[in-house]
Amino acid sequence: MPKIPDRYSRFVVLRDVGPKGFQKIRNAKVAVIGIGGLGSISSTKLVTLGIGSLRMIDPDTVDATNLQRQFLYREKDVGNPKVHLAARRLQPLNPNVKIEPIKQQLTADTVDELIKGVEVVVDGLDRFAPRYLLNQACCRQGIPYVFAGALGATGNISTILPGKTACLECIYGGVDDAQQPTCETIGVYPTLLGVVANIQVHEALHLILGLPPRLAGHILFIDLNELRFDQFPIARHDDCPVCGDCQAPK
Ligand SMILES: [Zn+2]
Repeated sequence: MPKIPDRYSRFVVLRDVGPKGFQKIRNAKVAVIGIGGLGSISSTKLVTLGIGSLRMIDPDTVDATNLQRQFLYREKDVGNPKVHLAARRLQPLNPNVKIEPIKQQLTADTVDELIKGVEVVVDGLDRFAPRYLLNQACCRQGIPYVFAGALGATGNISTILPGKTACLECIYGGVDDAQQPTCETIGVYPTLLGVVANIQVHEALHLILGLPPRLAGHILFIDLNELRFDQFPIARHDDCPVCGDCQAPK
């Protein structure tokens, strides 16, 4: 086994990681969909901890309203594509990681190709319409999907294992984005984003290491103002139109 660089020494020494676990992480491919408030944090964490390959997907350009919480972007970046800037900022943090920036909208036509070949999908989206497409594609391809949402001071996270746990449709079927509050209307605490995104990455790590993801079949609700973390089991819907016939994760 090749020598593990010193930069990973505090990580490899973890009982759950070790040289074998680290090798799994070095071989893993993860996609972060949406490089905004959550995705800026999850992608940074994945790069510094030494994931093998990170695919970053986002169609957007930087807006001035992003800067207060999306720390990969600068004032001078406003109007420029997020994924290329993010890749340029993240690569020097860890040259060992293969970063693949893709500036593309997630649609019914693109979603399958966008997530093809990855081991875990980490959600950085802020609307349900693309999340439903992602949930369906993860089901078709048997890819675990770490769902998360964050708004105001509250967040929720669940790890969806196709064919095994409740899928997004089972948990939150039929949400109409037009009826939902957004970060634009009610805001979001930047501190909340750190908590939620780091839990997502921890779940992704567990999946890669072959450890039980704690939020598989559960949803975690976080209220940061109250410092409450409540976990609830969620069952699959027998008549779910999506996950009745999923590929099992490999
Ligand atoms: Zn379902």
